[in-house]
Amino acid sequence: MCAEIQGPAVLGYIYRGFSTLVGPDFGGKLEDTACTTCGKCIDVCPTGALLPKTKHYKPNPGYAAEHGTRCTECGLACHVTTRYAGDTLLQVLPGEENDYNGTDLCYRGRFAWQNTDMNYTAEHAEDLTIPQNTVMHLSPKMSNDMIDAALAFAREHHLDCVSTEVVPDPWDEFPGRHADMADIGRADTLVLAGKNNQVLKARARLAQLKGARLIVIDDPGDPYNRFADLLPASVKELQTHDIQGNTVFIYHRESCSRATRDAIRKKIGGMKNVKVWVNSDHLNTRGFLTHKIPHVDELKAEHVIVFGPVPERVSAEHVIRLPLRPFRIEGTVITDTGEKIRLD
Ligand code: SF4
Ligand code: SF4
Repeated sequence: MCAEIQGPAVLGYIYRGFSTLVGPDFGGKLEDTACTTCGKCIDVCPTGALLPKTKHYKPNPGYAAEHGTRCTECGLACHVTTRYAGDTLLQVLPGEENDYNGTDLCYRGRFAWQNTDMNYTAEHAEDLTIPQNTVMHLSPKMSNDMIDAALAFAREHHLDCVSTEVVPDPWDEFPGRHADMADIGRADTLVLAGKNNQVLKARARLAQLKGARLIVIDDPGDPYNRFADLLPASVKELQTHDIQGNTVFIYHRESCSRATRDAIRKKIGGMKNVKVWVNSDHLNTRGFLTHKIPHVDELKAEHVIVFGPVPERVSAEHVIRLPLRPFRIEGTVITDTGEKIRLD
């Protein structure tokens, strides 16, 4: 599982004969390996020796109610099953619908909900007194419905709305060539650029095991690079003969440099049989783009209203934080693949 599907090849057989164990090379510590904490080995462990250590979960799943939904931690919106006891989230597991992300989840999807700061200074915008010189910072982690409500509130109170979070991307102007999971599965060549999330990398690795060529650029130091069939230093080094057959370019909009993103657009502009997947750290980047919220590199203001945790590059004397809880987003979003989904 870890070597053949997930990629890091952290777990294998060590020692011999009756002493044989499954573990990291030379019996080392898991934290010293390239483990990505995806948790898939827990799912497939045949003896039950591996169990998730999550803050509310004790291994007694009989009391948990299950709910099929989507992960709201990035633009892939992977299928997940959440387990609750009352209102308390106990576990996030891969969803039942194996046609999309298979059984893959990344660390963020499976475990990061426990790290989130859930304390907010205000619960409802209607209860707020809005000082003068307040700017509202909107987030692509919000559903379209939440953005609409926030914009209506901002209009009523004459507030400017901006965002630092969505990086403008050259591919936003070219809808219609966006790839999906099925395109990755049938690709002859896959080109990955930037810090793509683990689920996409695992899918690309599966396609490679079925014969696709895997090219990785612009993510120096990633242990995943050792699986690459070709590791060019930049997009410019890619030759036309390197990109054969049905090709999917997968790049991460927040970590790829502007130069890389421009070079990809230039390289594939006139090519046929090429699709693109621009993935994002944010669930509703494409829905957010349709609202045309102005982008600013940095926001400094006297008073700022933000949703959820204060984003990097936002500073203010007084910050009002409104709820934006992981796995509790309600409303419609548009995922990185352009799929419109409803969360409840
Ligand atoms: S958590 Fe994922 S990467 Fe780490 S050992 Fe298990 S399967 Fe491998
Ligand atoms: S890839 Fe994105 S949507 Fe999928 S589990 Fe990870 S954070 Fe969630």
